[in-house]
Amino acid sequence: MSEQHSPRFRSVLDEYVAYRPGKVARSAEGRSYKLSSNESPYGPLPSVREVIADAALAVNRYPDNACVALTGAIAGHYGVPEEHVAVGCGSVGVTQMLLESIGEPGVEVVYAWRSFEAYPTLADLAGVTSVRVPLTEETHDLRAMADAISDRTRLVFVCNPNNPTGTVVGRRELEEFFDRVPRDCLIVLDEAYHEYVRDPEVPNGLDLYKDRPNLAILRTFSKAYGLAGLRVGFMVAQEPIAAQVRKTYLPFTVNSVAQAAAIASLQAEGELLARVESTVKERERVHDALAAQGWKVAPTEANFVWVRLDEDTMEFSAACDAEGVSVRPFAGEGARVSIGSPEENDAFLAVAERYRTAKRL
Ligand SMILES: *Cc1c(COP(=O)(O)O)cnc(C)c1O
Repeated sequence: MSEQHSPRFRSVLDEYVAYRPGKVARSAEGRSYKLSSNESPYGPLPSVREVIADAALAVNRYPDNACVALTGAIAGHYGVPEEHVAVGCGSVGVTQMLLESIGEPGVEVVYAWRSFEAYPTLADLAGVTSVRVPLTEETHDLRAMADAISDRTRLVFVCNPNNPTGTVVGRRELEEFFDRVPRDCLIVLDEAYHEYVRDPEVPNGLDLYKDRPNLAILRTFSKAYGLAGLRVGFMVAQEPIAAQVRKTYLPFTVNSVAQAAAIASLQAEGELLARVESTVKERERVHDALAAQGWKVAPTEANFVWVRLDEDTMEFSAACDAEGVSVRPFAGEGARVSIGSPEENDAFLAVAERYRTAKRL
C-alpha cells in the first residue's frame, strides 16, 4: 500500500500557474472600463447577431465536427486550399493542438519572452521544455532565437505583432530567420493582431507559407472580428502539417453558434475592418498622448499599447483599478493597455496623467 493519501497528479501541475483572466475593476462611482484583454470594444454587428440567434435554435444538435462550411469559407476568403486550414477552439485551442502534435519527452519549444502567456502554460501541459529568448528593445530577437534552436527543438513561436509589447518584425528579418530554422522544426507565426498592422514592412503570413513546408500561420476571430466570447480560431499551413494537427482536435470544441458567427463575420468583413480602422486611429492617439505625457511607450501595431514601468508597474495598475480602468500588469515589467472606445481611452489617459502629477514625474 502506498503512503500517499490523496490522488496523485502530474508534477508539472504543482508549478503550473493557472491562466489569470483579465480582471474587471470598478471605481467608487461604479465606472468600469475593461482594457485588460485586447477585446474589440464593439458588440456584434446586426447581421452577425441575427445569425447567432438563428444558430441558437439548433443547439440540441452536435456541431459539425469537421467544421466543413467554416473551413470552406476561410479557404475561399483567404484564397487558400481547404486542405491547408485547421480550425480550433480559439487560436489558443489551435496552439494547444500544435503542441500536442509535437509534444514528447525531451522536446523543446522556443519562443520569445515576454510574449503570449498561453505559450508557457500550454507547453508545460504538453510535457515539452520551454526555451525562452529575451526580447531586445521590447522586440523579438530573431537571431538569438535561431541560435537557441537545437536538435531537440520541434516548434518555435513568433508572435507578430507581439503580445504584450505590440512590436513587430519585418519581412526581411522574418525570412532570414525562417531560412535558419531546420526543416524538421515547425515555425508557428501567431498573427492574432494582423488586421491592426499598418507598417508596410510587416508581411502577411498567408503570403509566406506557400513555399515553406514548416511554416504555420495562426489567426483568430477573437480580436478584429469581435467574437472572443465564441471561441474560434484557425491555422493555415501546407497539407502535411494541417492533416497532422487536425488529428489532435478535441471533438466538437468549435460549437455550432461559433461556426455560424465566424462565417457571417467573414461575409461582413468590410464593416468589421472599418471598426478596426477606428481602433487603429485611437491607438495612434493613445500612443502619442502617452509619449507626450512622458511615458516609455513601445511602438505598437496591435490593438493595445505597452507601457514600460519596471518596479512601478503594480502601483500604476492599482491606481488605474481605483478609477475603474482595468489594465494588464506584468509585475516588474510594464502594463499592457487595450485600445477601447474613445471614452474608455480618455479615461485611461486621464488616470495616467493624474498618476504622473501625483508622483511629480
Ligand atoms: C488574443 C490572442 C490570441 C487569440 O486567442 P483566441 O484563443 O483565438 O481567443 C492568440 N494569440 C495571441 C498572441 C493573442 O494575443
